Amino acid sequence: MTIAGGEPLIHPEIAEIVSGMIARKKFVYLCTNGILLEKYIDRFSPSPYLTFSVHLDGLRETHDRLVCREGVFETAVRAIRTATGRGFRVTTNTTVFEGEDPVEIRKFFDYVKDLGVNGMMISPGYSYDWAPDQEHFLKKDRTRNLFRMILADRAGKGWNFNHSPFYLDFLEGERDYDCTPWGSPNYSVLGWQRPCYLLNEGYASSFKELMEGTDWSQYGPSSGHPKCRDCMVHCGFEPSAVGDATSSIRNTIRSLSSLLPAG
Ligand code: SF4
Repeated sequence: MTIAGGEPLIHPEIAEIVSGMIARKKFVYLCTNGILLEKYIDRFSPSPYLTFSVHLDGLRETHDRLVCREGVFETAVRAIRTATGRGFRVTTNTTVFEGEDPVEIRKFFDYVKDLGVNGMMISPGYSYDWAPDQEHFLKKDRTRNLFRMILADRAGKGWNFNHSPFYLDFLEGERDYDCTPWGSPNYSVLGWQRPCYLLNEGYASSFKELMEGTDWSQYGPSSGHPKCRDCMVHCGFEPSAVGDATSSIRNTIRSLSSLLPAG
C-alpha cells in the first residue's frame, strides 16, 4: 500500500495509520518530500513492512529548481541518511521531465546508490491538461529516447531499481504494453478514483463498484483516449510489466534474478 500526498507526514495521526496497516501485515510505502521526516521520525519504528519513499527529482540544483524551493534537496538527503542510519527502509522516487540531462540523471543514480537506499523508483512525467507546466511533461517517443540514454548499460552500474526489469525495458522502448489502470487503485476521502490517480473521471463508493462499474476498455493507449495516448507512468504500466514477468518461465527467472543485490 502506498500512502501518497500531498505530504502524508503533516497528518496528525499518520503514525497511528501506519502502525495499523503494519499490524495487518500490509507493506506500506509512505511517500514524502523528506522535509518533515527527520522531525517526525521518532513517531515510527523500523519494520520490514515500512518503507519511506522520498521524492528526489535530481541532484541538488535540479531538485530544488523543480520543487521551487532552495534547500529541499539537502533536507531530504539528511533525512534519508538519518532514516537509513536508524534501520528504516528507504527508497527514492524520481519523476523525469522533458529536457533533463541524461548524464546528470545517471550521476544522480550513482549518488543515490551511495546513500545506501533500498531501491530507486523512476517514472516519466505525465502530460495532462491541468498539469501546471505542460511544456515540461514528456511525449512518448521523447520519453523512450531519454530513458534509453538514462538507462544505457544499467546492468553494470549497480543501480538498484525498485521496479520490474520489464517496466525499465518498456521505458526504453524495448517492450510495449497497454495500461493496467486497476493495478494501482487509488482511494481518497472522495472514494475510489476512476480510472487512475492521473485522470479525474469520477469516483466509486466501493472497490467492487470501481472494478465492476468502470468500462476499463475506455482507458490505456490502445483505447484511443487522448489523455492516455502518451502515458507511460509507473502506476499504469508497472502492473502490466508484472503481468508479463509471470507470462513465461524465462521472464519469471529474469524477474527473480533482478531481486538479487545489484552490483
Ligand atoms: S494510460 Fe493508464 S495510467 Fe495513464 S492516464 Fe490512462 S488510465 Fe491512467
